[in-house]
Amino acid sequence: MANKFKATLVSWADIDRWCGNISRKVQASFDVDTIIGIARGGLVPARILSDRLWVKDLLSVKTEHWGITATKDGEAVLKTKINMDLSGKNVLVVDDITDTGESMSLAYDYVKSLKPRELRSATMLHISRSKFVPDYYSELITEKNWAWFIFPWNVYEDLNNLIRKSFTDRINADEVVDALKEDYDLDVSSLNMEEILNDFVVFGRMKKEGRDFVIVQ
Ligand code: ADP
Repeated sequence: MANKFKATLVSWADIDRWCGNISRKVQASFDVDTIIGIARGGLVPARILSDRLWVKDLLSVKTEHWGITATKDGEAVLKTKINMDLSGKNVLVVDDITDTGESMSLAYDYVKSLKPRELRSATMLHISRSKFVPDYYSELITEKNWAWFIFPWNVYEDLNNLIRKSFTDRINADEVVDALKEDYDLDVSSLNMEEILNDFVVFGRMKKEGRDFVIVQ
């Protein structure tokens, strides 16, 4: 395999803990009345924070940047806008991770241009190399510990991409589990790989031949 990198499966318990950490920090220091989640990665954390912080106004903006798992598509671009008057509002912009920081930076500058009373930012994970440092984050990840974090809401997309980086042809569930460990140091023992590959068949990502799955290019 050409480009090996580490990938880590994130659990719902991790998400719960990280969002809990953020919400307690925010609660102690910022009286939020509007939350804006950056789609798609920040949508679930933003929804959880709207619950924990008792905030009903939950909006989103969409940015696009990363293409296929762990490879970038180029410049981050803003795909949608906010259709609400933010004047007088204390706004929290939320994403899952600041890695390069480009998505958060773009979304933050855009929301700032809408002139809220005060604007702050939060991510669950913050990678030290990011050019944007969020006001609130739960975990600081050093560059040495960089990994592609497979969030529970991105498992199918990421596994589909990782499998295609490791294999081009015919596979079975056991081989996939072994290759993910070998190529990305990824432990997927908590997942039902057979079921996931069968779901890929339903969506035309793979074809089933006996016990084997054949990747559809
Ligand atoms: P930032 O680096 O500030 O998060 P990016 O534009 O680099 O902004 O990333 C945009 C989105 O890509 C993130 O919100 C996240 O969903 C995904 N992403 C980026 N880096 C990682 C990573 N190391 N692991 C998992 N997802 C990532």
